[in-house]
Amino acid sequence: MGCLFCNILEGKIPSAKVYENKRVFAFKDINPQAKVHLLFVHKEHTEDLCQLIKQDVSQLNDLFVAIREYVEQVGLDKSGFRVIINNGKEAGQEVWHTHVHILGGERLGRLNSR
Ligand code: AMP
Ligand code: ZN
Repeated sequence: MGCLFCNILEGKIPSAKVYENKRVFAFKDINPQAKVHLLFVHKEHTEDLCQLIKQDVSQLNDLFVAIREYVEQVGLDKSGFRVIINNGKEAGQEVWHTHVHILGGERLGRLNSR
């Protein structure tokens, strides 16, 4: 069992990788909510955004540096993209390894709070 995204990082569960560097790994979301829907995860396990910030806030830097590099590679910086981090139950977090959703590749609908 264990953490789903740690299993993906260890190659025990397959994923459609789009990007990797020393600290960060990114892959396609299995249930895409837009033409482009990616998940960026830090290789260090934390449960959620709050734990990550407490434990080592520089991981946010690692994640966003990776995201910037990736979006520039594929031109999403020009067309635009959305960043989402669900933290906790009421936000709908389902996988307890901090992850950043990147959505784009098409005109996205406005954010609805409910
Ligand atoms: P969240 O609701 O923020 O915890 O997001 C979890 C995301 O992980 C959802 O968008 C799922 O579609 C996605 N997901 C779950 N299992 C996998 C998997 N094996 N490979 C890729 N994405 C996954
Ligand atoms: Zn994990």
